[in-house]
Amino acid sequence: MSTKSFQFSLVSTMKYYLGLLIGIVIILGCSKTDIVETDVELQPYFDIFASEGEKRGFIVDYEAERIEGLLQDILSSSVQGQCFRNESKPKKVIIDTEYWANATDLEREFIIYHELGHCFLNRDHLDSSDNKGNCVSIMHSNPGACNFILTPDNRDAYLDELFLQ
Ligand SMILES: [Zn+2]
Repeated sequence: MSTKSFQFSLVSTMKYYLGLLIGIVIILGCSKTDIVETDVELQPYFDIFASEGEKRGFIVDYEAERIEGLLQDILSSSVQGQCFRNESKPKKVIIDTEYWANATDLEREFIIYHELGHCFLNRDHLDSSDNKGNCVSIMHSNPGACNFILTPDNRDAYLDELFLQ
């Protein structure tokens, strides 16, 4: 083998390994960045939930808890939001795009509180009502279960129940 062809094969071997190395770095890079990503429209409401939780002694770290929020079309018209809990992937709060677009600010807060009640607090549904028929919890299973409207007046009491029940 002449010196020239030896050098050529050495260079092409080095290029081959360099190519492999770059490939591996890109794969590692991707798996790192797809951890948690929440839709920008939902993020302010995730932030409100976090600050309300922190007022009540919770550390709400969506990155550490691996919880993300996404706006998607949910086919069933009666379902406004869902929480998917998954061992290996981030937990997902899915909010129906059309419901979100038509919801008031307090309705948006409610649906995020409810779904993060499942996804962050691991709460199940609670359909109990008080003697006036009002829901005792944000975690009621459906709008027909008991009377519920989130207002500036009852918001704190419902959040206390949500975090501290
Ligand atoms: Zn629910």
